[in-house]
Amino acid sequence: MPFMTTDYLPGRMIVTGGAGFIGSHLCERLLADGKEVLCVDNFYTGTRSNIAHLLADTRFELLRHDVTFPLYVEADGIYNLACPASPVHYQFDPVQTTKTSVIGAINMLGLAKRLRVPVLQASTSEVYGDPAVHPQPESYWGNVNPIGLRSCYDEGKRCAETLFFDYRRQHKVQVKVIRIFNTYGPRMHPADGRVVSNFIMQALKNEPITLYGDGAQTRSFCYVDDLVDGMVRMMATPDEVTGPINLGNPSEFTVKELALLVKDLTGSRSEFEHKPLPQDDPRQRKPDIGQASAVLKWAPRTPLKEGLARTIAYFEDLMKQGAAPVA
Ligand code: NAD
Ligand code: UDP
Repeated sequence: MPFMTTDYLPGRMIVTGGAGFIGSHLCERLLADGKEVLCVDNFYTGTRSNIAHLLADTRFELLRHDVTFPLYVEADGIYNLACPASPVHYQFDPVQTTKTSVIGAINMLGLAKRLRVPVLQASTSEVYGDPAVHPQPESYWGNVNPIGLRSCYDEGKRCAETLFFDYRRQHKVQVKVIRIFNTYGPRMHPADGRVVSNFIMQALKNEPITLYGDGAQTRSFCYVDDLVDGMVRMMATPDEVTGPINLGNPSEFTVKELALLVKDLTGSRSEFEHKPLPQDDPRQRKPDIGQASAVLKWAPRTPLKEGLARTIAYFEDLMKQGAAPVA
C-alpha cells in the first residue's frame, strides 16, 4: 500500500500522453486506485495497443487530441505527459516537440486554472543538460545547450517548468513538477532508439549491440512501476508541495555495463559495435532523490536486473507476435 492514496481526489484524472510508455502504466495504476481516467493522446509516439486492455473498463475513456490545441473537459486532476521522449522521436520534428511542451503546458495549465485542480508536469532530467554537478539535486540549474539537436526537448521542458511556476505565482494554480530520470519497462517502443530498448532488441536478434562513444557515459535506470508510484504520491501531496522533485533510481551504470547485463540476461551471441557519440550526449546522470525520499517517502524498489528481465520478457512476446505495436 502506498503511504498516501489519491482517494482525496474523488473523480476523474486526465492523463495526457496516456497511450505512451509511461502514460499507459499510469492509466493502469489510476484505474487500480479506483479513479476514472481520461486518456488524451494524439498517437504521435503512443499506440492503441498500449491501452487496448483498458478500453473495456467503463471508467476509462480515450480521446484522440493534440495538446497544442485547447481542451475543454471536466476533471479533478491532470497528469501532463504528452511529449515525445526518445531522442529519435523528439528530433524527428523538433519544432513540433517544442510546441508540444510549451503550448501543451499552457493549455493544460489553463485547464487546471479554470477547473481549480492540480496539474502535474512530467519534466525531465534533461533540464540539467550535461551536468557539471553530480549527482543532480533539484537546486542545480543545469548545463544546457540552447541551440543543439537536443534543445527542442530540453529547452521545451525547461520553458514548461517556467510556465508551471509562473502560473503558480500569477494564478495560484496547484502545480506539481517532477523531473523524471531514465525510465524503462514493458511498452517502451522497440524502435524508439533508447538505450534499453535498442540493446534488448539487438540482443534478442543476436545483432551487434551499438555502444555510442566508449560506453563509459552513465545513466541511472528506474523501473516504470516505481516511477508511477512516485507520480501518484506527488499528485497526492498538499497544495504547498510544488516540486520540482527528482524521480529516478540513483543506482548508476555505465552504458557498457548495461550492455553486458542485457547480453547476460538474454544469453545473446551479439558482439559490441562502437558508434559515434551523439551531439550533446550527457556524460553522466544520477538523481539526488533526497527530496523524493523526505517529501514523498518514496524510493525505487526494483533492481535493474529484475526490471530488465521483465522488460526482456515483454520484447520477447512482441517478437513472437511478429510485429511492433501499431497506433
Ligand atoms: P512516449 O513517447 O512513449 O509517450 C509520450 C506520449 O505523448 C505518446 O503517447 C504520444 O503519442 C503523446 N504525445 C506526443 N505529442 C502529443 C501531443 N501534441 N498531443 C497529445 N499527445 C501527444 O514517452 P514516455 O517515455 O512515456 O514519456 C512520457 C513523458 O515522460 C514525456 O513527457 C517525457 O518527456 C517524460 N519523461 C520520460 C522519460 C523516460 O525515460 N521515459 C524521462 C524523462 C521524462
Ligand atoms: N546509447 C548507446 N547505444 C544505443 C542507444 C543509446 O550507447 O544504441 C547511449 C546514448 O548515447 C546515451 C545513453 O545510451 O549515452 C542513453 O541514451 P537514451 O537515448 O536512452 O537516453 P538519454 O540520452 O536521453 O538519456
